[in-house]
Amino acid sequence: MRAVAVVVCGAGIAGLALARELGRAGIPVKVLERASGPRSAGYMMDFFGPGQLAAEETGLLPLLAQVAYSVTAVTYVDRRGHPTAEIDYAAATRAVGGRLLSLLRGDLERVLRHDLGPLVDLRFGVTVTEVVPRGDGVTVASADGTRLDALAVVGADGVHSAVRAAVHGPEQTFLRPLGLHTAAWTFRDAALRARLGDRFVMTDTVGHGAGLYGLAGDEVAAAVFHPAPRDDPLTLPDDAAGTVRAVHRDLGWVVPDALAHCPDGADLYYDVVAQVELPRWSRGRVTLLGDAAGAVSLLAGQGASLAVAGAHVLAGELAPALAGSGDVEEALRRYEHRMRPVTTACQEAGRRSADWFLPPTRTRLLARRLALRALRLPGFDRLAARRLVGTAGALP
Ligand SMILES: Cc1cc2nc3c(=O)[nH]c(=O)nc-3n(C[C@H](O)[C@H](O)[C@H](O)COP(=O)(O)OP(=O)(O)OC[C@H]3O[C@@H](n4cnc5c(N)ncnc54)[C@H](O)[C@@H]3O)c2cc1C
Repeated sequence: MRAVAVVVCGAGIAGLALARELGRAGIPVKVLERASGPRSAGYMMDFFGPGQLAAEETGLLPLLAQVAYSVTAVTYVDRRGHPTAEIDYAAATRAVGGRLLSLLRGDLERVLRHDLGPLVDLRFGVTVTEVVPRGDGVTVASADGTRLDALAVVGADGVHSAVRAAVHGPEQTFLRPLGLHTAAWTFRDAALRARLGDRFVMTDTVGHGAGLYGLAGDEVAAAVFHPAPRDDPLTLPDDAAGTVRAVHRDLGWVVPDALAHCPDGADLYYDVVAQVELPRWSRGRVTLLGDAAGAVSLLAGQGASLAVAGAHVLAGELAPALAGSGDVEEALRRYEHRMRPVTTACQEAGRRSADWFLPPTRTRLLARRLALRALRLPGFDRLAARRLVGTAGALP
């Protein structure tokens, strides 16, 4: 069996961004993805900070700018749809240095996938089940019985990483649940789409909530957030769609219409809101990237950005080592040394914003409302923006 240079497990944002950069640096890469094909739209994301700087350095930014949506404001609404507070997106953009893109996760992945280059071999429908580090390489096995020998393996397989489980142990040890479950889906509804305009609309509600955003044509992206079971936050419900419809039916405004479009099965994204913390990202020539290494969660609003930045840093360290001018394990250590501080800072910011994001009591809700109104005063808009999108870190 001939060894491939790098096997990347997972064709999400992190895995695709890494494969693109390694391929461009002349390193052959095999990307193994569990899903049977490209995932659909997903959810709307703010993209700024280190990932945006990495995208600029690697020529990705103009491609992303072409698929970005124009958001004018984040508007909070009560159960009748009346605005209770608003954050101006221009202020948010200024607060992060004028560099903020609103991207659908599916669009970001599509751009990366179409720009992979000839040295990247992307295989869908392959679930990695086993990863065994050896002295000078790694063996990867997948559910269909395929075995590959590689010079290095990167687990870019998300919060519930199989590579991490194989090399570091069960996920319960590394997942830090933040008390919420989330779900996201897209659907077509011309009347509802027209009511959204180009605002990102969030319900101004206690304990659970929804966010809606209009996409191209009559398409709408919806996301909901609600408390995880206290005694067992990591276990997901058997009937995710049923749970979403039941928990959020009292949110009022257009939410019942959005819930009527909530799909069953794989078209519904449903997961725990959690961070990933583990003492070391690499073992031998196996390392982790993106959410698999250090998920910051949607509360931090920078997971995709860190996935792209991490891919850039990792490719920059790994490609020369694989091309023969350095030690692979040392390259992986340098990658972690550079990325870990920015990841940890984002995780801390995410945890701090939990109550702001979804107020647990009416008092906290009113406090957020007042703060948002005060922050609209001249001079406070940058503060408001930071509350909304966080602080943009530099590229490590
Ligand atoms: C509702 C919501 C809103 C968000 N908003 C923002 C935002 O505004 N800004 C931002 O920057 N981030 C945001 N995020 C976070 C961001 O989406 C993630 O941090 C990012 O997608 C992580 O990318 P990843 O490639 O590391 O992991 P993933 O996107 O999870 O990709 C992992 C891939 O690995 C595959 N895989 C899993 N297991 C295996 C296996 N065993 N074998 C092969 N393949 C496998 C999966 O199918 C998947 O394709 C948000 C997240 C959510 C849920």
